[in-house]
Amino acid sequence: MPQKKALIIGAGIAGIATAIRLAVKGYTIEVYEANGYAGGKLSEFEQEGYRFDAGPSLFTMPQYVDELFTLAGKDPRQYFNYRKLDIVCRYFYPDGISIDAYADAEKMAAEVNHKTGEPAQALQKYAHNSSQIYAITNHVFLEQSLHRLKTYLNRRTVQSILRLFQIDAFRSMHRANAGFFRDKRMVQFFDRYATYNGSNPYRAPATLNVIPHLEQHYGAYFPDGGMYNITRSLVKLAEDLGVVFNYHAPVDEIVLNGSRAKGLKVKGDLVKGDLVVSNMDVWFTYRKLLASYPQLFPERILNQERSSSALIFYWGIQKQFPQLDLHNIFFSDNYEAEFNAIWKQQSIYNNPTVYLNISNKYEPADAPTGCENWFVMINVPANTGQDWDSLISDARKNIILKLSAQLGEDITPCIVNESILDPRSIESRTSSYQGSLYGTSSNSQFAAFLRHANRSSKINNLYFCGGSVHPGGGIPLALLSAKIVSEWVE
Ligand code: FAD
Repeated sequence: MPQKKALIIGAGIAGIATAIRLAVKGYTIEVYEANGYAGGKLSEFEQEGYRFDAGPSLFTMPQYVDELFTLAGKDPRQYFNYRKLDIVCRYFYPDGISIDAYADAEKMAAEVNHKTGEPAQALQKYAHNSSQIYAITNHVFLEQSLHRLKTYLNRRTVQSILRLFQIDAFRSMHRANAGFFRDKRMVQFFDRYATYNGSNPYRAPATLNVIPHLEQHYGAYFPDGGMYNITRSLVKLAEDLGVVFNYHAPVDEIVLNGSRAKGLKVKGDLVKGDLVVSNMDVWFTYRKLLASYPQLFPERILNQERSSSALIFYWGIQKQFPQLDLHNIFFSDNYEAEFNAIWKQQSIYNNPTVYLNISNKYEPADAPTGCENWFVMINVPANTGQDWDSLISDARKNIILKLSAQLGEDITPCIVNESILDPRSIESRTSSYQGSLYGTSSNSQFAAFLRHANRSSKINNLYFCGGSVHPGGGIPLALLSAKIVSEWVE
């Protein structure tokens, strides 16, 4: 029997992972990617001797990457290696204290107790709560499709569903965190995890307090060679399995035959296949690639609020700052005002929380000797037509003021080169609607149920993977979406 052919739209991390999984299943795979490189948001670039990972910088759940190699019968270590971080992140507060978030739970509790007076038991209780939510939700909400009857027909799912009242869905993350900790700095510390999927801790359900469990229990890692090596090594694996990547190949249309997807239109040519998987943001998949079929659009799903976006300054820094680590957070003076600015005013707070990642702390070759490559990011609203040039100019000044004050010196003369990524360029480079980083927001307790399924209910043979569909954004969940697709495909 001839091999079935799968056509994949987009070589984002989920598109690549789907290609690998379907190749292992025996499919012939062709990937069509609009850009001249793979990885989508997970890409890299070079700037006057400094290397930057363009998007993700925090690597968690590396087992989901390893699994792709073992599934293909390969040794992951021959392709891809990483190190566990002892200090996950260094937090700087406006009052001058800094907290090192140690991977080791006891060290972390001692550090927090020493810096804030918060008792070790408070952190232990919190960690227990996070792990409980994970135990209940992981199997049902993350590892399987919520849109498939089969999911609900096994004992483990039923057990999880019976415990759903324990997942703290009816109060906000912030309210829950304020109940766990007396010290406002610890509340802010745990509220920040809402930003891991582009949400607002003052609205997102406390179920999302599961996120710290992923980082604190499973750990945070740094891939040898930088984040882009995740993409590079998976593309190599896919190619070893015979996957064909076509670059500079934007897909213009998904071609239907009745209610079946029968192929793609790429630069005017029809490419036929037995099934189609879209790694393009689901909003654009419908509105651009299926534009002739508005009757098929799941409007309720497409019209949901989007997750937040990001503004990033990539700065070549002609100096070293030993007081900084790989991941650093400089908190704002008023977190609620910051989230109100993003979510209510659709703007940027004048004293934003700044995330500063410096990959050459672990990978010295990423910057010239004596220098550092700064990835400086703040959370911003999705693009709804704001005056970004003016917002970016103000934000740049405020960030420089803030970092200079906290580091005790004017950093302006240290910045020797710069490039900027904002919601408009995130949208244009990766076709992410409104430049949102994680598809739809998770600000409501029903958000998990309202994400688009990994398969179309109206078009046979059309599947969806990536951060804009179930189970969600971020590298680990995007990789899980590929797993769900491959389990669904016959
Ligand atoms: P994308 O990366 O969005 O890729 C989609 C691909 O499809 C693109 O290459 C695009 O060119 C291609 N495409 C789209 N339309 C077409 C078409 N019509 N034809 C052909 N090709 C098409 N996650 C983490 O886990 N940790 C982090 O620290 C983290 N930080 C982030 C920081 C930033 C600045 C950004 C932008 C994201 C961050 N994320 C992080 C989120 C993470 O990057 C994404 O969730 C994940 O990479 C999404 O992968 P994806 O497969 O959904 O697709």
